[in-house]
Amino acid sequence: MHKIDIELIEMTLDVMKYAISRISATEHPIGKPKKHEELKALVGETITEKGVGGEYAFNLWKEHLSKANVPVDHPRNLAFVPAAPTRAAVMFDLVTSASSIHGAYWMEGAGGIFCENEAMKWIVSLTGLPEGAFGVFTSGGTAANLSAIVTAREHWREDETYKREKGLIITSIGAHSSIKAMAKVADVDILLVDSEERLTESDLRKTIDNLNFHQRKRLFAVVGTGGTTNAGIVDDLEGIAKVCEEEGLWFHVDAAYGGGALAADSVRHLFNGIEKADSITIDPHKWMFSPYDCGAVIYKNPELAKNAHSQQGSYLDIFKDEGAHGFNPTDYQIQLTRRVRGLPLWFSLATNGTEKYKEAVERGIELAQVAGKMIEENPNVELVREPSLSCVLYRRIGWKPEDYTHWTYENHDKGFALVTPTKWKNGDIFETVSRFCFINPDTSENDIQMILDSMN
Ligand SMILES: *Cc1c(COP(=O)(O)O)cnc(C)c1O
Repeated sequence: MHKIDIELIEMTLDVMKYAISRISATEHPIGKPKKHEELKALVGETITEKGVGGEYAFNLWKEHLSKANVPVDHPRNLAFVPAAPTRAAVMFDLVTSASSIHGAYWMEGAGGIFCENEAMKWIVSLTGLPEGAFGVFTSGGTAANLSAIVTAREHWREDETYKREKGLIITSIGAHSSIKAMAKVADVDILLVDSEERLTESDLRKTIDNLNFHQRKRLFAVVGTGGTTNAGIVDDLEGIAKVCEEEGLWFHVDAAYGGGALAADSVRHLFNGIEKADSITIDPHKWMFSPYDCGAVIYKNPELAKNAHSQQGSYLDIFKDEGAHGFNPTDYQIQLTRRVRGLPLWFSLATNGTEKYKEAVERGIELAQVAGKMIEENPNVELVREPSLSCVLYRRIGWKPEDYTHWTYENHDKGFALVTPTKWKNGDIFETVSRFCFINPDTSENDIQMILDSMN
């Protein structure tokens, strides 16, 4: 199976043809899941002693399995945080796969890592962090948040006073679920400010002032969100930075979703203060149009990340030798062996230029504003709050939670759209509402109109 024969050549051509038609398609079905049993009944046993053959397996994929996925780049997929990788980035994902590059150490991956770092330099420049700040690409925002929390915690524990203390971090309920999940992994306690609206300097100040002596001793970091996943809200990063500085706390900004908006002049001011962060998470696979998976973690002082994450092992010593000198991405996050997952972004940035990125992100923000206006003009629906970044929360007047669920399934079943409900905290109750998140610049105003009309 490592040899070349005519069958392999044919298979290569088939796969390329499939990839070309997917990359160049202007329309594709929205797709929907099937139950495991249904899929099993359609495809039967595929893993056998002798193999079923590439052609047969590929046909199963084309006929049945590919259709049970919901491509995130459909223009009427506005659920969760969708994605819309550029064609150049998708193409280079193929090149990345074909090149078998081990992206942990410069010694093995210098060419690929060089490209990643060029793309990273652009991302870092958007943040306004001071000279010396740098980052690495991770498998996503979750891994980036974990890498940052562990770096902060290890740095805090360098002080003997805290060596045996369990750490505590503060964030708000607007923070992404991965902050809570990763605090668990790092065995760190978490305190949530009970508001999904913008976390402000005074909220944070009050929360810290209310800590008891031991809690205050254990507090080492604050996580602000640069675009909440649910509503696109950017916390008061300037105010949070100020409190962190006064209190000697690590300031992490989770901008996994919103980070792309740093490129957009119209909203850049909302992120003021991000340049004072100790670490930042940004997901290129969300609003920087990279294919999955590609997150990023950036540090004001990368040396601290290296102290926390650099792996030691006799088999790894060679990578640290002279001659292998260069940037080793493995030293700055939790993963050792890694794909050079920033490579597709580099190729797309090089191909298209950063202006195009700016325009594509601005389009998402514009679509949210347009949707907001359409909602205000439509008597059946109303805004829950003003659109923020590219998120729009709105209610269908008179609908109960099950009406939203039913509507979502109906639109999805028809292959028309995927728009899912969410909850918004209104006083003490969690109200079920509808939500748009715009990423894809190919989404049209007509798409939005049709979706709103389907609520009549
Ligand atoms: C999506 C998201 C994450 C998680 O990122 P993954 O890439 O899914 O791991 C973290 N934080 C925020 C704010 C997000 O929107």
